[in-house]
Amino acid sequence: MQFMKFTRKSRQSKAEQRKKECKKVEKMIPQFIRDELDDSTKKHFLEHIEECSSCKEELSIQYLVMAGMASLEKGEAFDLNRALSERIELEWKHLHTKRSLQNGLYAVEAGAMLAAALILSLFVVV
Ligand SMILES: [Zn+2]
Repeated sequence: MQFMKFTRKSRQSKAEQRKKECKKVEKMIPQFIRDELDDSTKKHFLEHIEECSSCKEELSIQYLVMAGMASLEKGEAFDLNRALSERIELEWKHLHTKRSLQNGLYAVEAGAMLAAALILSLFVVV
């Protein structure tokens, strides 16, 4: 009996934790649309959106309202689903680019060293 009580309680708190997480993410939606989130928050936000259909739906609605109104004012045609998925893709790309930039710098350095070695060896041959 005691055990059953315990499992029930722990399951409840897990669901509550998820609800809290959703509340946090929902609050971030306007900031995400205005691009005001820092990188680690943005990553957290995007990861949650990919797993949580209710938050993704909320994002779609708010994105439609904010971005849709803006493009209507400009007289542009607006495709919500395409615009939103492109935006999400772009944000992921930015996050990945920032991380791989560091690796890229090393690659450039290695390439420069290789070129220098090649030029040196040419001189040695001549
Ligand atoms: Zn959620």
